[in-house]
Formats: sequence, C-alpha cells, structure tokens
Amino acid sequence: MEIKAPRGTKDIFGEEVFLWQRLEEAVHRNAFLFGYREVRTPIFEYTELFARGVGEETDIVQKEMYTFSDKGGRSLTLRPEGTAPVVRAYLEHGFFVREPRVKWYYIGPMFRYERPQAGRMRQFHQFGFEALGFQEPACDAEIIALAWTIYKELGLLDLSLELNSIGCPKCKPRYIGALTGYLEEEKEALCENCLLRLEKNPLRVLDCKAEKCQEVFRRPSFPVIQDFLCEECREHEERLFRLIEGLGISFVLNPRLVRGLDYYTKTVFEIKVKTLGAQDAIGGGGRYDGLSQVLGGPEVPGVGFAAGMERIVLLLEKSGVSFAQPPFFYLAPQDEKGEEILLSLSQQLKGLNIPFYLDFAAKGLRYHLKRAQKMDIRFVVIVGEEERKSKAFSLKDMASGEQTLVSLEGLVEFWRRERTAC
Ligand code: AMP
Repeated sequence: MEIKAPRGTKDIFGEEVFLWQRLEEAVHRNAFLFGYREVRTPIFEYTELFARGVGEETDIVQKEMYTFSDKGGRSLTLRPEGTAPVVRAYLEHGFFVREPRVKWYYIGPMFRYERPQAGRMRQFHQFGFEALGFQEPACDAEIIALAWTIYKELGLLDLSLELNSIGCPKCKPRYIGALTGYLEEEKEALCENCLLRLEKNPLRVLDCKAEKCQEVFRRPSFPVIQDFLCEECREHEERLFRLIEGLGISFVLNPRLVRGLDYYTKTVFEIKVKTLGAQDAIGGGGRYDGLSQVLGGPEVPGVGFAAGMERIVLLLEKSGVSFAQPPFFYLAPQDEKGEEILLSLSQQLKGLNIPFYLDFAAKGLRYHLKRAQKMDIRFVVIVGEEERKSKAFSLKDMASGEQTLVSLEGLVEFWRRERTAC
C-alpha cells in the first residue's frame, strides 16, 4: 500500500513555498527591526512542562498532545505551543539574574491532535513573540503592534482585533465565582461539553462555539469579567486601550474572550479575519505574569503573541499574490562536452549571484525548451557542437524566439541590462 503523509500534516512545495518564504522573511525582518532576537527551543519537551505551563484542564493537555515515552521511560511531548518552552529556556539559562528583560521570538512547527480541517492541522506552524520581564502595558501594545505590522505588510485585509482583560489572581477568582454561580443556575441551557467544563474549569465555557451556549453568553444578565476587574487590572487595560488607539489600530472589546490557555493574566487578544470561515483566528496572545512561577521560577511578568502560519498562507493564496522567482538562465547542454562547459559556467554565474537552473544532456533541446517554459524561465543558454566551435553560448529568448551567439561577458552584460530593466 502506498504510504501517505500522516493525517493532519502536509507537504509544502511548488508555488506555495514562496509564500512561506515571504512570510518567514517578513517575520525575521520585523523582529529584527523591533529588536526581538530569535530563540530556538527543542521540538519535544518533558510532558510536565506543558501539563503545568499550559494547564492540566485545558483541551490541549487533556486531548491534544502527542505524548510518548522514550526508551529511558521519560514522558515526552511534541510541543503544542511555544510560550512554555520559551519561558522554560529563560529560567533554565538564568536570564532572570543576568538579563531579566528580554525580547524574543520563535518560528517553527507545533503539534496538536485535533480534528483536521481547512486551517486546522495536527502539525502546524507558528511564529510568536515573547517579551519577558516587562510589566508595562506599553509592552502589550508593542506586541500587538508588531503582529499587526506583519499582517498589514503582507497585505492581509479585513483584520479585526479583539481585546479583553481576564484579570489577575486578585480579581479573576471573584469573576469565576460569579460565572460559576450563574451557569449552575442555567445548566439545562448548556451543551454537554460545557457541563464538564463547568466542573473542571468554568472559564473554558466561554470558549464554546455551540449556538445553545452562545445564546446564554449573549444575555444581558450574563456576568462579564469587565465588571470584576481590580483597580490595577483596570488601569492596565485603560492605558493599553489608549496606546492602541494612539497607534491607529482599531479594536473591539470582547468581554467574553478568554483564550484556550490557562496561564493568561490581564490582557488577552485575538486577531481574526472575516474571509477564513470557521477557523478565523490568525493569531492571539496576552499577558502571562503567573507562568514563570507555575514553572518553578521567580515572579517574571511576560506578554506574547502567536500566529498561525498555515492560515496566513491560505489568505495569501486566496489573494492571488505570487512571490515566485524563477531562475534567470536555463542551462541546456546538448552533449557531454556541453555539460562540462555549462557546469563550469554555473560556477561563474554563482560567483556573480546570477540564479540559474542546470539540466543535463540526456534530454534533447525540445525537452529543455519546454521545461524552461514550464519553469517560467525566459532565457535559455545552449551549448552544443556549434557553440563549442565558436567558443560562445547560444542565448535563446523564449518570449521572442530570437537566438543569438554571445560570449561569457556578453551573458553577464545581458543579465545586468535585463535586471535593471525589471
Ligand atoms: P493558540 O496557541 O491556540 O493561541 O493559537 C495561536 C494561533 O495558531 C491561532 O490563532 C491559529 O491561527 C493558529 N493555530 C492554532 N491551532 C492550530 C491548528 N491546529 N492548525 C493550524 N493553526 C492553528
């Protein structure tokens, strides 16, 4: 039987690769401009990191982790998200002492055992920014601005930013109490999943998409966290809102936004796109001032953001943009001697930063011309017996059909001219 890629994973090739590279380039460049430095953590970690750092009662830990024992009997998990590993690395390498305020970013694959559908994969990719050691609301604003800048630069349209605060250990429990009290009275109006969530982690109820539950959330009497925030959380939120407005980014306050991970405090936010259907979130994040302590470290404030790259690439594909860059010359040898000449020409072209594609002599000219056309390469360099005799190259323009004999200097000069004409 033919072996296929595992369900929920995919191969990325052809035109799509250029979209990924464009996105990755935008992430690295913007991170550099904003002074964020890359951190690369392992693809797998001890399971306990996520059990503690993401939260025992979350869907991720309960249902979605790829967990296995290695030959030494240790329980390991393919990382389902990037924040807990980044904070683990910060603590492990003593940053708290030597450089408590760091701005970092990451980019790479994540793994969650979810039901695959468009924009929801089991292996997917995220880039994320994490600022550790900063308690200022202005840092929340910077993280949001950074995400927004990248989306905008990529030309994504119809973005919406939703903001909320989920309070801190001082005020969050009061809200959870009120929420639980309300939902206990309305049990018959909730779906079965929410009845379970209500027992284990009532805040998760707000994540439910079932229409039945959504109706309950929309009631004017439904308790919202905004009415329970303490003075400190309210001030933090008000300053953040002012800063975001000042940056010219419009947002809506969504008092029901809690997001799926347990470690958030104060700010939570999500960026959505109208055109993506059910999987409309292209990124989200928030403040996680309690995470370091949950992982056994000192008190370290933190704020971060993670973006789903598959969904961004889907949007780029839908918009019809192309970042494809075909090689400039197609090198088509007619025989083995031609191969030798073109192999050595390829070294010279490389030295001059001229992109080329070299094929070999087992195929005839007709094949090469067709292939060049298919690869969208306009200029073909041919070497056969005739070219060898005249110590030159034939240069064929696929657009006009014209063919001329040129020297090496002629080829390079031609490339320079064409490149400046573009
Ligand atoms: P989260 O870590 O759950 O806050 O997710 C951050 C972003 O990652 C989401 O807004 C999505 O864009 C993306 N994402 C999360 N889970 C998946 C998945 N299974 N497949 C593709 N993208 C995902």
